[in-house]
Amino acid sequence: MKNIETMIENFKKIARSKGMKITPQRVAIYRELVSRHDHPSAEDIYDALKGKFAGISLATVYRTLTSLENAGLAMKVATVNGVARFDGKITPHSHFICKVCGRVIDIDCEVNVETEKLKKYNFSVEKCEIIYYGVCDKCQN
Ligand SMILES: [Zn+2]
Ligand SMILES: [Zn+2]
Repeated sequence: MKNIETMIENFKKIARSKGMKITPQRVAIYRELVSRHDHPSAEDIYDALKGKFAGISLATVYRTLTSLENAGLAMKVATVNGVARFDGKITPHSHFICKVCGRVIDIDCEVNVETEKLKKYNFSVEKCEIIYYGVCDKCQN
């Protein structure tokens, strides 16, 4: 995991190159996203920041997360119980989603794509995301 300050510098560089405005709110949203590993929803980030920024709204957080996603700085993992969950870790990795508590957990299983079988389609595959669904360790007890 890269140092958060390095990630923020990288975010600013990419945001600038894409013509995204860099506001203290946006930096705080990005910082919050990359500082936590629970794959927060826009609401989770909004709840964490609303005390620090008087003018922040859930819509701002949602819009910023979407811009981050479009800039390749974040990804939407999945929708859990109707709520989109985001990840600031953009290196390829898999996820496990607990259907009981809704936790989204990083899994470092190797993605085993049967690329040989994909050849017949003549597609150019750019990424593969795997999500496992089930019941987590805590919810099994
Ligand atoms: Zn669980
Ligand atoms: Zn993740």
